[in-house]
Amino acid sequence: MSIPLYVKIKDEDNVAIAVNEIKAGTEVMEGVTARHDIPQAHKIALQDIPKGEPVIRYGVVLGYALEEIKKGDWINEFMLELPTPPDVDNMEFATNIVTDLPEPPVKTWEGYRNPWGGPAGTRNILGISTTVQCVTGVLNVAVEKMRKELLPKYPNVDAIVPINHAYGCGVAINAPEAVVPIRSLRNLAKHPNFGGQLMVVSLGCEKLTVEKLLDEADISPENVIVLQEKQGFQAMIDALMEMADKKLKILNERKRETLPLSDLLIGMQCGGSDAFSGVTANPSAGYAADMLVKGGATVMFSEVTEVRDGVYLLAHRCINEEVGKKLAAEMKWYDNYLKEGEVDRSANPTPGNKKGGLANIVEKAMGSIAKSGTSPIVEVLSPGEKPTKHGLIYAATPASDIVCGPCQLASGIGLQVFMTGRGTPYGLAIAPVIKVCSRNDMKEQWPDLIDVCAGPIATGDATIADIGTLLFNEIIDVASGRKKPFAEQYNLCNDLCIFNPAPIT
Ligand code: CA
Repeated sequence: MSIPLYVKIKDEDNVAIAVNEIKAGTEVMEGVTARHDIPQAHKIALQDIPKGEPVIRYGVVLGYALEEIKKGDWINEFMLELPTPPDVDNMEFATNIVTDLPEPPVKTWEGYRNPWGGPAGTRNILGISTTVQCVTGVLNVAVEKMRKELLPKYPNVDAIVPINHAYGCGVAINAPEAVVPIRSLRNLAKHPNFGGQLMVVSLGCEKLTVEKLLDEADISPENVIVLQEKQGFQAMIDALMEMADKKLKILNERKRETLPLSDLLIGMQCGGSDAFSGVTANPSAGYAADMLVKGGATVMFSEVTEVRDGVYLLAHRCINEEVGKKLAAEMKWYDNYLKEGEVDRSANPTPGNKKGGLANIVEKAMGSIAKSGTSPIVEVLSPGEKPTKHGLIYAATPASDIVCGPCQLASGIGLQVFMTGRGTPYGLAIAPVIKVCSRNDMKEQWPDLIDVCAGPIATGDATIADIGTLLFNEIIDVASGRKKPFAEQYNLCNDLCIFNPAPIT
């Protein structure tokens, strides 16, 4: 079977993307000859596009031609004028509610039920929360010692993870937007992978007090260590070791059990995207998401600036006006947040995205939304909030990989599926990350970092349903602890960058 030269998505599209590099002079389809070398994943014009006329991919206007574009031209990011963003005040809700979803091959998984209720754990971890960065140095020394001296005694515990972060002091703790980092840290302290065991390290004079981080009922000497109350460094280490030992003993009794998919909560995000992400990796993830939702699981997708240009498509999928209004409110909040910084959504695509053929944020958004599949959106969350419903959830977060990750963790995800075009070794300490790449070349370059390759969809060797089903099975295996994705095997984890839209003092 010969590899196709291009991928065109909708009939009305006047551009297609190159599966591999297309040399100038190649006849791409009848009547269309490449006028330049077209780099892999970049766009070629299939028609003459006069100045000011729309460039269309995914059936949507990516932008308007700044100069006349000839049939066969390479279209890059400098040739398009960005359209105005869709109006969020007059969106239609619940006009596209899809109930015909693909049936999942299995409906159970093996997870850790929690005394706190909510979603079950995918791993068994001692998570040690902190109220402030000031304690990080001491905690890190203690954690190294715990890993060496305590962890080997408790074989059922997977890891000990300090929740180190930059928040906690020198911050405007009463600023309205401080609710975002405070809520995130509160929810992280009770992540489903921590099995109901709370351990918190405080300095003693910080703004994020223990009372702000924990519920009153959880504040006790069994759960909280205050460093300023200790007689010197060694006493701090001793206290941390002693508390960790007690918590680990309890965690070691945790057992996996067979659970319905309704106890599973996962997140999806993408990073280092290219023009194939929206054709291969993200639609496969969307297919797996639809299967999970059909089976009763909860799936979260995020990244405000990467859905902003297609937000009306999401509004049509919101189950009712209440959910739709929250979606609009989150978009407006982010529009204002960007405006305060004197930028807009066009600040999003990276040089790597553009090298990968993504001309602008509209094109990136259309590809990004594909990861949400077709399921109805049952709930919209503010950054770091926990879901109250089962099904597909839109959790508003920044698109930044390293900020979206902790936001989704705070919302309680037990696993993240991460789609990439250009490649990133991204990982999280608290939950496993499955990486899905958009091109075969990426898998060949990083065979030991990419878990699932969606490239065969572009070359016609697999369908979206094939890779989507493969990914679904991978999600179940990893969530159930039968398999570790590469990032987990190597212990690759990014820092927990907590989203703080409030001022620092
Ligand atoms: Ca991202």
